[in-house]
Amino acid sequence: MKPDPHLDALVAALSGAESSAAGLDTLLQIVDCMPTMVALLDTERRHIFANQAYLDFMQVTMADLTGRTVAEVMGAELFRSTRGAADRALAGETVQAEGWIPDPGGGQRYMLRVHAPHRRPDGTIAGYFVLLHDMTERRQVQDDLFRLAYYDPVTGLGNRLLLVKHMADYQAVGEAFTLVTVDVDRFVEVRTSLGQGFANELLIDIAHRLARDAGPYDLLARISDHAFALLMAGDAASAEVEQRVDTVAGIVRSARSSSGAAVFLTASIGVARCSDAHERPEDVLRDAEIATAHARTGGGGRYALFDPAMHTRVVEQVRLEHDLRDALERGEGLWVAYQPIVEMVTGGLAGFEALVRWNHPERGNIPPGVFIPIAESTGLVVTLGHWVLRDACRRVADWQDKRTPGSAPLFMSVNLSPIQLGDPGFVHQVRNVLRETGVEPSWLKLELTEGAVMEKAEQSIKLLQQLRGLGIKLSIDDFGTGYSSLSYLHKLPIDSLKVDRSFVSAMHQSEENRAIVRIIIDLARLLGFDVIAEGIETTADANLLRALACDYGQGYHFARPLPPEEAERLVVGDPPWWDGV
Ligand code: C2E
Ligand code: MG
Ligand code: MG
Repeated sequence: MKPDPHLDALVAALSGAESSAAGLDTLLQIVDCMPTMVALLDTERRHIFANQAYLDFMQVTMADLTGRTVAEVMGAELFRSTRGAADRALAGETVQAEGWIPDPGGGQRYMLRVHAPHRRPDGTIAGYFVLLHDMTERRQVQDDLFRLAYYDPVTGLGNRLLLVKHMADYQAVGEAFTLVTVDVDRFVEVRTSLGQGFANELLIDIAHRLARDAGPYDLLARISDHAFALLMAGDAASAEVEQRVDTVAGIVRSARSSSGAAVFLTASIGVARCSDAHERPEDVLRDAEIATAHARTGGGGRYALFDPAMHTRVVEQVRLEHDLRDALERGEGLWVAYQPIVEMVTGGLAGFEALVRWNHPERGNIPPGVFIPIAESTGLVVTLGHWVLRDACRRVADWQDKRTPGSAPLFMSVNLSPIQLGDPGFVHQVRNVLRETGVEPSWLKLELTEGAVMEKAEQSIKLLQQLRGLGIKLSIDDFGTGYSSLSYLHKLPIDSLKVDRSFVSAMHQSEENRAIVRIIIDLARLLGFDVIAEGIETTADANLLRALACDYGQGYHFARPLPPEEAERLVVGDPPWWDGV
């Protein structure tokens, strides 16, 4: 390449080897092209020089600028806020900082600011440079990301992450705090029936009023679809926490949509205090939510203070849930017991109730009262119920064949969980099991509790009608303990009422208790249902029920729930209570 004397001179000038006007001119051109604003000021803070970006931002010309101070150009406020950095630069330090500064157009810009000393060749300070780099757009993107990451777009409250972050900050500095988690009861139903928009309006209303009630050091967050959290800093006294919980519950109860429409809502509220046992902020949140779930099992609209026994119970439940799933998958440990149901007048065997049993590999027998609720809360009951139904139908089909010819067919009662009732494939499933096992539909009796039927009465009636349409019998279990509405009872397509065993066992205690059983039997008669009494434990119980003209009986007096082989022995021979009743 041919050497260019102009460029060689420029390199020498720019590298400081030689001073030259051409070099200086080139440097000025470079400085003017830079998007970073650059200015040189003297020790009196007067402008000496600025590049084009600086002039554009300040909306001045070089002639306007030179000789004027920062305060004169940008106002006293900016002067005050940058004065410290300028002083340090004049003392020989390079200072870098970020922050918002007013722009002459009336807005605010987020700038990286550098103040650096301007030194003479002998090292003495002649003034300072100011470099401003506009980072507003980047900052806005960061803010948006922060908002998206830490705030709920519907209510504007912080989200779960922000809550955890705050708790972590408190834990890091050893600050005490109390966490209150607030879960709106039955919110999913409200949303399903009244729509997402309306549901959101209620959440927004609750959020705004919670925010209005919050103290300056409280943090509010929306931590899940229908749950909020209130983080109270400091070591609040129990009475104070209770009072806050009351207020929160009141706010939820009076929630309104933007048009003022109200729905009666309640909340399950859990409270956990941060302690040494909480290693991570998530542990406190977990405990508050366990307490919330505990409050919920009490029927909602309540509050509970976390205690460690709740955690143990949850861990236990999770373990049992895992083991139950495992047992169902492998078909190990679960079996069905059959408890005879006796015709009261003759003492003959009328049928059986199928009662599921779980023989846990380590813990032995776990009662259905423990594992059925777990199966229900996890949806496992749908598979479990199907399995029990299949076993019961196979047995009854087999036993029917083994009966003495001419005897009345046995019926088989199978318990049904409300969750199964809500399963859209249920009727289809029952029909398949009947077909597969060759069971006559009239041999099968499904038992439902009052709660299961009454909760969604209209919907249940439709489903029960379909089942009955197949020819299956239906029975209300534990009758008298729930909240059957008499107006619905006569509309229900059912065949039997099963008097709860609490009434049977109390019959001998008072005339009143006897009267309850008599009324249930009369009511059943009036509505055309037959009556089964459960929990008959003594001869006296059996005699009394017979005198009250109860149709069927079941209880330890006759037999306990039996393994299938023992139950089968009753099917083929005469039951032992045949003469003894
Ligand atoms: P349930 O349907 O009311 O069943 C009657 C319960 O009373 C059974 O308890 C039975 O063992 C017990 N029992 C029977 N006779 C007597 C007696 O004379 N005295 C006393 N004290 N108790 C008697 P179990 O087997 O523990 O079942 C409890 C509940 O678990 C059942 O109440 C039923 O609601 C539920 N369950 C059992 N098996 C199943 C099932 O396969 N599916 C569903 N969804 N629930 C089931
Ligand atoms: Mg039952
Ligand atoms: Mg019962």
